Amino acid sequence: MVIKEKDIICNCGCGQNFIDNVLYSFLENFLKQLEIFTGKKCTLMTSCVNRCPAKNKSCGGSTTSKHLKGSAWDGFAVYQETGKRVDAKIFFKVLKLCYQKNIISGGLGYYFPPNKYCKNYFAHIDTGLKRVWGFIGETYYNSLSINDFYRTFGIM
Ligand SMILES: [Zn+2]
Ligand SMILES: [Zn+2]
Repeated sequence: MVIKEKDIICNCGCGQNFIDNVLYSFLENFLKQLEIFTGKKCTLMTSCVNRCPAKNKSCGGSTTSKHLKGSAWDGFAVYQETGKRVDAKIFFKVLKLCYQKNIISGGLGYYFPPNKYCKNYFAHIDTGLKRVWGFIGETYYNSLSINDFYRTFGIM
């Protein structure tokens, strides 16, 4: 299982637990590539899949957020053996490769801390239009190409 049942459910207690099969296969394929690249077994750590409308509003999510339908994933990855978080540059490099090869062909959000959203990095992956956005520190980038985005981040 790439994502556990308990990780899919909206964390407000409402019980919303949609799961999108396309999203699931994106995550499965991404995990496979991450393990090939690092040569190690990895686990995806999920912070959010579903958000009901009330939860989405309270956390400032977009009104068209894919989390409303369980079609978006937020999280990061750890090495199974040590439990240590996979380094951001490795994680995002593999994500970029998956995006370029259309292994993941939806939206990608990049969150590089520190900023108001996070102390540690995480990614948002969804099944919507193929596009890239993200925060590098407090700066929000919306319309960069994936190569420009990586140049800005410094991990070409
Ligand atoms: Zn909820
Ligand atoms: Zn998200």
